[in-house]
Amino acid sequence: MFNAPSPEVCTDQHIEQVICYSNPLLLESGFIPFNEIRGEHFVLATEIVIEDLKKEIRTLEKISHPTWETIMDPLEGLEERMWRVFGPMSHLTHVKDSPEIRLAWAEVEPLWTRFSLELKQNPKLYEAFKKIKGEGWDQLTPSQKRILENRMKSAELFGVGLGIDNQEKFNLLSCDLNQLQTKYQENVNDAINHFSLIIEDKTFVEGVPFQVLAIASERYNQTKSSVMKESTPENGPWNLSLSSPVFIPFMRYCKNREVREKLYIGSITKASSPPFDNTENVTLQLKLRNEMSKILGFESFASLSLSKKMAGDIHTVETLLEELRIAAWEKSREEIENLISFAKNNGVESPFMPWDLLFYMELLKKEIFDLSEESLKSYFPFDQVLEGLFSLTSDLFGITIERVSYPISVWHPDVSYFVIKNDKKEQIASFYLDPYSRPLSKRGGAWMDTCVNRFEQRINIQLPIAYINCNGSPPLGSSPALLTLREVETLFHEFGHGLQHMLTKIGYPSIAGINGIEWDVVELPSQFMENWCYHIPTLKRISSHFQTGEPLDDPTIEKIIQSRHFFAASDLLSQIRYGLFDLQIHREGGISANEIWSQVSKKTSHLPLQKEDRFDCSFSHIFGSDEYAAGYYSYIWAKVMSADAFHAFEEAGLDDTVAMRNVGKRFCETFLSLGGSVDPMDVFILFRGRKPKIEPFLQANNLEVITQVDKNK
Ligand code: ZN
Repeated sequence: MFNAPSPEVCTDQHIEQVICYSNPLLLESGFIPFNEIRGEHFVLATEIVIEDLKKEIRTLEKISHPTWETIMDPLEGLEERMWRVFGPMSHLTHVKDSPEIRLAWAEVEPLWTRFSLELKQNPKLYEAFKKIKGEGWDQLTPSQKRILENRMKSAELFGVGLGIDNQEKFNLLSCDLNQLQTKYQENVNDAINHFSLIIEDKTFVEGVPFQVLAIASERYNQTKSSVMKESTPENGPWNLSLSSPVFIPFMRYCKNREVREKLYIGSITKASSPPFDNTENVTLQLKLRNEMSKILGFESFASLSLSKKMAGDIHTVETLLEELRIAAWEKSREEIENLISFAKNNGVESPFMPWDLLFYMELLKKEIFDLSEESLKSYFPFDQVLEGLFSLTSDLFGITIERVSYPISVWHPDVSYFVIKNDKKEQIASFYLDPYSRPLSKRGGAWMDTCVNRFEQRINIQLPIAYINCNGSPPLGSSPALLTLREVETLFHEFGHGLQHMLTKIGYPSIAGINGIEWDVVELPSQFMENWCYHIPTLKRISSHFQTGEPLDDPTIEKIIQSRHFFAASDLLSQIRYGLFDLQIHREGGISANEIWSQVSKKTSHLPLQKEDRFDCSFSHIFGSDEYAAGYYSYIWAKVMSADAFHAFEEAGLDDTVAMRNVGKRFCETFLSLGGSVDPMDVFILFRGRKPKIEPFLQANNLEVITQVDKNK
């Protein structure tokens, strides 16, 4: 149970105690009772915990001889207690959105932001850090040194050195920014959910898989009035949304060009007009970020962001992106030209448009490889993919994963809970898996988040717990949930993040697992895991036709592997476009985000940009929170490193199980164990024996390094 409420908070001790003890957010240990948490619990839990933590901080401030044990250890515990209350609330806003949760979150979020800022900017604690560094540096372990440096840097970047006026200004800007980000994400979700394209004519949905029509039909029935006719998946009517399980298959398979155009325009304009308009929000966020950076003495928000990354500075990132852009540019032109002539031969008369891209890519892919994402889906029932993924990680890293059979409190019946055991059968971690899309209450995309961090306190070890969230298509009727290859990759990706969080051996929460790692390296284990989706034995393990039980045959697997490079250059250019756009809007003031998007698109796409395109209004990665802001390039940065890491397995021989286990062990002992306790370049060198190279990434994408001589041609 959490500490008893303090008199300041609880005016009526008896009543308040009853409330506190019945507040599920205040349970200090054990499973988090997710199904009991309501919006009404947020405010009281927040107020009580913040008050409690503030008292603890005041005690720390008074310590006259600061040491690791008296200051740093308690801070680790304090933050972990904060996370125990903050984490589940934040998680629920992503997976169980409702007006009640939104309202409660809007009330508590500024309190947390302010508290967190005060903690990071605390001048007395900063003085204590300096003292510990000055007087006790040599006695600290490498992990402790890293934590101390992280905390000092974080304090500096949060304005510990600013005068009172500037600090107050900085804090107000930070609070405003947080609120804008929450609103931005809400607008994107609302724009996706409120978009509606009703189709009644059956010929307009020709080519679209039955399961997708079933989702659109169900949506029609949910929103129709009682006098309207009932929809069926076969005959409609259908109500199309912009959520991924509907939008992407329609762009890929719908033969009707007009329907594709309407959906495409809906997608590139989402959240760019009332009532869900992010236009002003983007301008304000850029302005606030710029102001905050200037207060801290940085030229721009991009410089501030890069000062915390492995890449270190804008120039290094731009050099890498430009090298890759040049390597991909001509190859992408070939891909697009080839596609346009294929489309012409298949009946496209007017200019080829962006809403033709996925549709003809799919047709061409089918012609070359005779593969279709939808038919492949039948081979990837969710449970089989999961089992295959678990057995792969067991072979590579010597762990076993078991689904728990006893009841656990979860936020939705789709959610399962698993435990991870080491080779001695001891439990070392666990995770919640929330696999399916719930457009009305769960945010889009896929993500891993930390629920509980690994924390060693003398003889007690708190084991890590992760949330793994995907947005796959749910089971329909009697068919199991079937994943596209892309969704399989996504699951592997998120599981890679999860492994780094869960297999860590570090005992300090602030540098355990994914914590304390430079953000541009965080995507390394996740992107590393994606490679296994193109490994023959793994494809056999994760596939089993949902009706016949047959795994994928060898010719199909061969085609899947070859098809991985299909449009690889154009895909890479898209990623570079997002990365460059993000970097430039956060570096240059005075130019509108939309204008920069248009400039960047010219050198990263062979297709003209549509005048309606307002991508900046739905780029949640960089405007929904600060994490990827001026850091979207991290995906590419980590991709280059993860390709090189995977190449170590290829060099050892992917069919050699003993060699795999050996390299897997080394991967586990470095990337998956060390968390943020060691500089990322040193971790890479520990694993690879040298610094990262770009070549394995280019080879994996069938691209070549373009030398300076070639560039000048
Ligand atoms: Zn990721």
